[in-house]
Amino acid sequence: MTINRRNFIKATSLAAAASSAPGILRAQSGSARVVVVGGGFGGATAAKYLKHWGGDKVDVTLIDPRARHTSCVMSNLVLNGELPLKDLRFGYGDLTSKYGVQVIKDSVKRIDPTARELTLKQQVPVNYDVLVLAAGISFKKPRGWIANKNPHAWIAGGQTRLLKDQLQAMPAGGTFVMTIPRSPYRCPPGPYERACLVADMLQSNGGGRVVVLDANEGIQAEEETFSRAFDQLYGNVVEYSAGVELGVVDSNANVVETSLGDFSGDVINIIPTQRAGGLVRNNGLTDGGFWAPVDVTTYESTLAGFEDIHIIGDAQGSGQPKSAHMANAQAKICADAILRKLASQPTDHAERLQNITTNSACYSPITRDTASWLTAVFQYDMDKGAMALAHIAEAGEWTRDNYSEMFDWANNLFADVWG
Ligand SMILES: Cc1cc2nc3c(=O)[nH]c(=O)nc-3n(C[C@H](O)[C@H](O)[C@H](O)COP(=O)(O)OP(=O)(O)OC[C@H]3O[C@@H](n4cnc5c(N)ncnc54)[C@H](O)[C@@H]3O)c2cc1C
Repeated sequence: MTINRRNFIKATSLAAAASSAPGILRAQSGSARVVVVGGGFGGATAAKYLKHWGGDKVDVTLIDPRARHTSCVMSNLVLNGELPLKDLRFGYGDLTSKYGVQVIKDSVKRIDPTARELTLKQQVPVNYDVLVLAAGISFKKPRGWIANKNPHAWIAGGQTRLLKDQLQAMPAGGTFVMTIPRSPYRCPPGPYERACLVADMLQSNGGGRVVVLDANEGIQAEEETFSRAFDQLYGNVVEYSAGVELGVVDSNANVVETSLGDFSGDVINIIPTQRAGGLVRNNGLTDGGFWAPVDVTTYESTLAGFEDIHIIGDAQGSGQPKSAHMANAQAKICADAILRKLASQPTDHAERLQNITTNSACYSPITRDTASWLTAVFQYDMDKGAMALAHIAEAGEWTRDNYSEMFDWANNLFADVWG
């Protein structure tokens, strides 16, 4: 590997931002009202950059039911006690004080695309000229599954704390069973990194079993690295099986039925099949599928009747990896397109299209003080009208340097989203 990852990420992020910065907006009769739903990685970035680049020409409102977002990124380190959950919580104070984003603490229930009106759970309806949806994922629940007994910990917060508590209460030599859904799911390397960290915990407590039941035909990211870690570091602990279909879950008895037979464990971590969050699905934006189809040059819905509704982050279905780094990159392209359109500037000229790039990065702790990493760059393909993989790189080794760089990378990302 010749690439220096830190420079690589910095360069690609800056390139995406620079190529996306819009020109001066033309005079409008009033500020356009852009409403962003969801204050996670995609939504907070979009709200920030809409105001940062659009200034007084746009009135930006961010809606999220929680006062602070809890980051999934780095949340596997809460499970092994390396990070407190409180360090992964981010409020919206800077978005308001530094950029002028208005924040409403509420949950959006319905979208009326004709009236351009949102129905909120508690407050009066909110109108928009342009809508950005960044409401993340939801789960297709397996039969019998009770999340409060067999946590997913795939949306960070109370579920992360519950899984951590269950792991800490595990008896010596106990069994941890984890199920991995079919791709696409949020954070392709995430389940395998979790398996490594739990194996590391069990091993340092005298042993145990980590049973990994993967619905896919094989490891979905950094295959060579995780295979080697499973064999060399955790050969006596990790039992990995591919192509395993999950059936009924008996959460009261801690038993999962699968195509490979029944498995019981002291702790069962069900990571279910994923799809766009309820707001996007229930309002017809997935066209009956799992993810929302979008134009990747603007992230506007491609479905008729949803003009000026943009979907970014994990909920959109463009085939790019579902990651926080990617949601951050998509948000900037989306914000740029919205501002150009509001200024009556074209979004589809060749110079802009050629410069549309996004990138994804995931660091994976493999032990409590080493990590690997994976990054991928996507470039707009003018012939196909889609994002195409332009470059992929991975660490190939788990090292202490990678582990410490992981914190720099995460802190930079958090600051770019909420800072
Ligand atoms: C264990 C783990 C490790 C990960 N590690 C990495 C990593 O190393 N690198 C990386 O890039 N990615 C990583 N990810 C993936 C990353 O967390 C997601 O891809 C990212 O959070 C997606 O951003 P998003 O904006 O689409 O959704 P989210 O960040 O989930 O934000 C969604 C927001 O929408 C809000 N919302 C939902 N419904 C409504 C509604 N109806 N009204 C108003 N608001 C609503 C929610 O409250 C939430 O704040 C990891 C994920 C996991 C689970």
